[in-house]
Amino acid sequence: MKNTTHDVILIGAGFAGLACAQTLARQGLQVMVQEKNPWPGTKIHTTGILVKELAETWNPPARYCNKIDQVRLYSPNMDYLDLHAPDYYFLATDTRSLLRWHAEQTIQSGASIRYGSIYNGSERQDGYHVLARTETRCRYLIGSDGSRSRVARQFALGRNQQFLLGVEADFQPPAGLSPKHLHVFLDQDLARGYIAWIVPGIRDVRIGMATRAPEPPDFDRLLAKLSRHWPIDTTVKPVRRAGLIPCGGLVHPFYTESVLLLGDAAGMVSPLTAGGIHPAIHIGEQAGQMVAEHLLHQGENPGRALRRELPRYYFKSSLRYLFDHLPINNRLYDRLISKPYFRLLAQTLFFHHRGLLSAAAWRDIINLSLET
Ligand SMILES: Cc1cc2nc3c(=O)[nH]c(=O)nc-3n(C[C@H](O)[C@H](O)[C@H](O)COP(=O)(O)OP(=O)(O)OC[C@H]3O[C@@H](n4cnc5c(N)ncnc54)[C@H](O)[C@@H]3O)c2cc1C
Repeated sequence: MKNTTHDVILIGAGFAGLACAQTLARQGLQVMVQEKNPWPGTKIHTTGILVKELAETWNPPARYCNKIDQVRLYSPNMDYLDLHAPDYYFLATDTRSLLRWHAEQTIQSGASIRYGSIYNGSERQDGYHVLARTETRCRYLIGSDGSRSRVARQFALGRNQQFLLGVEADFQPPAGLSPKHLHVFLDQDLARGYIAWIVPGIRDVRIGMATRAPEPPDFDRLLAKLSRHWPIDTTVKPVRRAGLIPCGGLVHPFYTESVLLLGDAAGMVSPLTAGGIHPAIHIGEQAGQMVAEHLLHQGENPGRALRRELPRYYFKSSLRYLFDHLPINNRLYDRLISKPYFRLLAQTLFFHHRGLLSAAAWRDIINLSLET
């Protein structure tokens, strides 16, 4: 007979939900993940770049990863500077395969995943959450269902209010484009409040951009601009992926006594860089430990315990505020690109030179800017 009673049900088999489910199942809990898509990686809405910190703790299979340790940063008029840090790198990934691997690991850990099954709400009965129109129930419910979380809405939890709008597509690598660099384009007219990018992947390149909502990204204009510099083959219309990236920081509240939000649903994304995969996995695993401790040993409310451990993003939120509100325009970017202090600033942001939060890094930048 099908087991309908679980210790934990997670809604959403993305990076956060799967990471948390694995940790819970390894502690011996009965865990199910419910996912609306029919199979893993059906709808990808991420570029899938992993930062070094995650690569080294998570160990994704090398066959799905392309190591990149250089960034080419372009000003709006396409002058560029190359940034490199010998001790830092990113992984561009075959994200679909990576998510499939992540799902396999989850099943091997003992959790089950129910694909093609949308969460339509739940009711509280006898201390359990019972999923709508089913007999499936759990003691603890986790909403890892992305930036527009249904779980957050149902339980009147905090909701993401600020977003970047991202869009991207895969192309054949164009001749003349360096495959060794992560190409990053600054252009306030085109990608207001964020950047555009070309990421050399495993077999193709990903071209994408994000803008600060509500400004819609004009992808055709980006392709037109890039096509003036590289022969980008747009004869076969690639499938475009689009998505919302929360950039307002942690939502409040993000838990109740028996419900917790994780990943994008909770706003666990760097407000500045928009990197969300590292926090989704890292905090997802931490949350798994805390929920297991709570259910197995009557430990404290996992949301409260997690709250103390979470990054507050105060500093990155302040930088995001500055980025949104300072009168930065393309002429300024064109001038800054050749300045040594701008190079150091970019180095700090991309490669965590001395650490983004380190006073020393910011002292270096200020000293250099005063000298030049
Ligand atoms: C264009 C773009 C590029 C990005 N690039 C990067 C990058 O390079 N590096 C990086 O670190 N971050 C990047 N991000 C951010 C990153 O992708 C996310 O922060 C990360 O994927 C969040 O993982 P998650 O598990 O919280 O949510 P998601 O990956 O969104 O997973 C949520 C899951 O829940 C499912 N779901 C939703 N509603 C329901 C429902 N009602 N019932 C059942 N299932 C449901 C969805 O189908 C989905 O599978 C990017 C985002 C975008 C939009």
